[in-house]
Amino acid sequence: MRPLPNPKRTVAELKELRAFTADDKGAQRVAFTPTWMATRDWLRRKLAELPVEVHTDAAGNLWATLRGESERALIIGGHMDSVPNGGWLDGCLNVLAGLEILRRLSTQYNGRPPVTVRLVDWADEEGARFGKSLFGSSACSGNLDLNEARGLKDKQGISLPEALKTVGIDFERVKESGVELNNAAAYLELHIEQGPVLLDLDLPLGAVLGTFGVERHAITFHGQAAHSGSTPMNRRRDAFLAAAKMSPEIYRIAERSGGGVCTIGSCTTQPGIVTSVVEECRITLDQRHLDPAKLARMLAEAKAASEHFAKEGNVRVSWERLWQIAPRPFHDELIALCDESIRETCGKVHPLPSGPLHDAAEVAAAGVPTVMMFVQSLHGISHNKIEDTKEEHLELCVMAFDALAEKAVKWIVRRE
Ligand SMILES: [Zn+2]
Repeated sequence: MRPLPNPKRTVAELKELRAFTADDKGAQRVAFTPTWMATRDWLRRKLAELPVEVHTDAAGNLWATLRGESERALIIGGHMDSVPNGGWLDGCLNVLAGLEILRRLSTQYNGRPPVTVRLVDWADEEGARFGKSLFGSSACSGNLDLNEARGLKDKQGISLPEALKTVGIDFERVKESGVELNNAAAYLELHIEQGPVLLDLDLPLGAVLGTFGVERHAITFHGQAAHSGSTPMNRRRDAFLAAAKMSPEIYRIAERSGGGVCTIGSCTTQPGIVTSVVEECRITLDQRHLDPAKLARMLAEAKAASEHFAKEGNVRVSWERLWQIAPRPFHDELIALCDESIRETCGKVHPLPSGPLHDAAEVAAAGVPTVMMFVQSLHGISHNKIEDTKEEHLELCVMAFDALAEKAVKWIVRRE
């Protein structure tokens, strides 16, 4: 029998972390702040007890490397940073479970596993201060848009390059962190689900199929302003009426798509006064799906519907793309191993896509075989101090994630 990890220690360490990084509003481990630096010092002290090499890369990601017989590396990732007033598990559960796996591997293989195993704490996953998520992992994957990131400022007007300088990071060199992926053979990430799917199914753990692709658009209907008293109902060119018809329609589009989601998150009107028919109505549409073809179909259906409603109401419609990202499906064989690990640990598994983006999406985009495991979130809520997961589920996820790491080590050896 191989040695097992000690999941109770992981739960105790999560509580230890919470005790010095949270206040009565929640976790305060915002990237590049003194609390985040203290979090990293604490993590470094834990890592110092293991036969690992620790260094920080050009983008501020912290790496702990347990050298193995082969240079090919299994990478386990997470992020110690949180949003302001955040939860106690988001990101740090992944890192602390990874720490426990490093301990188990180092005991089992006398400090030298068959392949190299690395734990990474990605810098500024949340993007809470500069509004740009996945900073460290997108620098490492090469996807970070330097021109865009260079201009980002926080609420105090401090630029991202200036803020990075205070923690010893040279913005112009952050993409040099890409060398860290040179020998990457597989990437694993554990995360709280942050949604209610596993909770509603009453299952502790899920194998993640990939992260959703996103289409984000502004849709503007152009009608005509007219007096609310003197304009008969049949003479109106009401931009709001056309936009409003989109609301039930996107629910039908999402329903037909088989697994996609659509959201109208904002609606603004001009002239926006109580005595005028709406001349211009702008809504935003966010559509997400794991399947690129189905995502494209959802978008096409929304466009067709908007044109139909515009024609019906004698108004005009225009579209503007705000942002998009392709779906990032995870690696089939690693998904199968994740599934197996969960079955062996708790009997039942549910495969599900991830709505939120994670660092894993960046690593997958860089071409590294990737998979994530989700553990149930109580209330289906995160980025909030009420974020929570049952302790028995936290322990189960450490066991299942450790089993996955062991299977992934063997998978890498087989592929060499
Ligand atoms: Zn996270």
